[in-house]
Amino acid sequence: MNIILLGPPGAGKGTQAQRLQSERGMIQLSTGDMLRAAVASGSELGRKAKGIMEKGELVPDELMVGLIEDRIAQPDCLKGFILDGFPRTEAQAEALDRMLDKKGKTLDRVVEMEVDEQALTERIVGRFSCAKCGTGYHDKFKRPKVEGVCDVCGSKEFVRRKDDNAETMKTRMAAYRAQTEPLRPYYARRGVLRKVDGMAAMDEVYRQITGVLSGA
Ligand code: AMP
Repeated sequence: MNIILLGPPGAGKGTQAQRLQSERGMIQLSTGDMLRAAVASGSELGRKAKGIMEKGELVPDELMVGLIEDRIAQPDCLKGFILDGFPRTEAQAEALDRMLDKKGKTLDRVVEMEVDEQALTERIVGRFSCAKCGTGYHDKFKRPKVEGVCDVCGSKEFVRRKDDNAETMKTRMAAYRAQTEPLRPYYARRGVLRKVDGMAAMDEVYRQITGVLSGA
């Protein structure tokens, strides 16, 4: 099964995708994580993306489409994938349709995580993740069980994203409203869009998503 998690920054897409990956073996394809890895490695893509990401703007479609096309061609994606942060524009959605068609793959569900915009900045500004395994945490909503130690891999190193601040969040939200929100009607017309309550507790959101995936 191949799905998209759709929602603004801070909606919880990454958290839910990580859980779907660990419990169901689906592959999380986070374009944000891929770009951050490219920036860290100093690759050509990383050099092009760095400044754009720090401002909270969108990286050009052709770079994003190339990145995803290469990734979904890899054998692990046969298990089913979760697109987290892609597509973000109509041009990306159309390119995704074309590449899936070409590879004989289907898009089974687009799960929209509905959230209250007021809460997003609070969610974004408090978040951090394990520097080693990438598990996500939050100062207020999800602290490690043992302070300063990752629950999953035991690492003591954590990182915070440069773009997770109130100022950049304004640009990221504006980009979401102008460029990504039109994907809702795009997928609604195709009959694949389903909504979940992204403001519910994390376990409840997960329950709703798995309900949607099993056909509800
Ligand atoms: P995210 O981790 O999904 O919040 O993405 C972080 C940043 O990476 C975004 O603010 C954009 O600058 C860039 N980015 C990630 N995915 C995309 C995409 N599909 N299209 C354009 N830019 C993207």
